[in-house]
Amino acid sequence: MRAELPSAEPPAAAVTAARRVPRRCADVVVAGGGPVGMYLAILLLQEGVSVQVLEQRPDRSRHSRAIGVHPPALESLDRAGIAATMAREGVRITHGEARSAGRTVARLDFAAASGRYPFVLTLPQIRTEQLLEERLLALDPDALVRGARVDSFIDHGAAVRVNGTGGGGPFTVEASLLVAADGARSPIRTALGTRWSARELPDTYLMGDFPDGTDDGTLGVLYLEPEGIVESFPLPGGLRRWVVHTDALQQDPTPAGLAWLVRRRTGHRLDAAGNSMLSAFGVRIGRAHRLVSGRTVLIGDAAHQISPIGGQGMNLGWLDAAAVAPVIAASLHGNPVGTALRSFERRRRRDAVVASAQAQANMVLGRPLPAGAMALRNAGLERLFQFPALGGAVARRFTMQ
Ligand SMILES: Cc1cc2nc3c(=O)[nH]c(=O)nc-3n(C[C@H](O)[C@H](O)[C@H](O)COP(=O)(O)OP(=O)(O)OC[C@H]3O[C@@H](n4cnc5c(N)ncnc54)[C@H](O)[C@@H]3O)c2cc1C
Repeated sequence: MRAELPSAEPPAAAVTAARRVPRRCADVVVAGGGPVGMYLAILLLQEGVSVQVLEQRPDRSRHSRAIGVHPPALESLDRAGIAATMAREGVRITHGEARSAGRTVARLDFAAASGRYPFVLTLPQIRTEQLLEERLLALDPDALVRGARVDSFIDHGAAVRVNGTGGGGPFTVEASLLVAADGARSPIRTALGTRWSARELPDTYLMGDFPDGTDDGTLGVLYLEPEGIVESFPLPGGLRRWVVHTDALQQDPTPAGLAWLVRRRTGHRLDAAGNSMLSAFGVRIGRAHRLVSGRTVLIGDAAHQISPIGGQGMNLGWLDAAAVAPVIAASLHGNPVGTALRSFERRRRRDAVVASAQAQANMVLGRPLPAGAMALRNAGLERLFQFPALGGAVARRFTMQ
């Protein structure tokens, strides 16, 4: 099979310490050097598998996205040797609270949800990606090529030939397997013709990082208010991330505008001048109907895009990588893996459905509601959360257990 990828942004010259010209062959080519592709490459290198990661961007993305890292992902990242550093640098959220109209309506204890990592960690995605890249390059300084875009591939049965542009011209890498970790728009998934069920949800948000002027310390707080939810999470460096449900996608967001919404709904005053990140976003969800096609495997956002509300997308991708790495290693060591691959596909698709449903439930909880209806719902929540077993179950669900 020969597949041309839809054209993407042009590759640019690499500016990091990563290798500049791809190798001619590797056991596995990973298309996409985001958090999921790099994590898979680390696991494979640790298993003695040779890997070439091709990343079209010349440098790490500066766009702030994920902050939340859940216990199962931390347990998995331990295998890559970076969980301890992340846990040291990040903020450990051991408790969450839902507030409404100045009252606490529910408390969640994440400490009971996991033995080894009894917290949800917050660390900006850009720092997480830096730690992953450092670990990857420590294992193999030539494993990552930046400014190298995959343009097409040919699956000729016995191997896959990956063609691309970058490092001063066209290149070809011959591999046993191509793993597409090329993000939600996944050009490789498109080229494969894999069915992708996608939906745009009506919810829109404005988010920003500000100096933390609250007394909430390491508490994660959800404000359930009639005009829509406000989420507030501690970040390293004395910052706090605020995420606000908005009526429509804000075209020209400003820190002062976000501060105004937070003040109006929660009473908190944000220091708009100290704002360090601002982003307005809508929500698209999608899932691929197949993860394995011939010698190509989809993982991460390429396999499933879920709502950012609930903070699970990157975690889910890492768990894909952890599930597929031993199967890939076994196949390259000559073991039959047909059943293991099918089981990987089934389990990861099922887990994506569960995580996506959880993220959508979080979104529904945060939608605007007339004050009377919200007061009734919150009274119900308050009563339900008096049962410790329910609180424990919700905490486990929130932390992807
Ligand atoms: C506002 C927001 C907040 C979020 N918060 C959280 C959170 O708290 N916790 C959480 O778990 N998740 C969160 N997420 C989701 C998380 O950011 C994604 O799930 C994660 O980045 C997916 O990683 P990935 O490696 O699969 O894909 P990506 O990060 O998209 O990386 C894909 C890479 O592939 C490269 N690429 C694409 N095409 C090619 C090609 N042809 N050749 C070479 N390279 C290519 C791209 O340049 C890119 O670097 C959030 C998302 C958003 C938008």
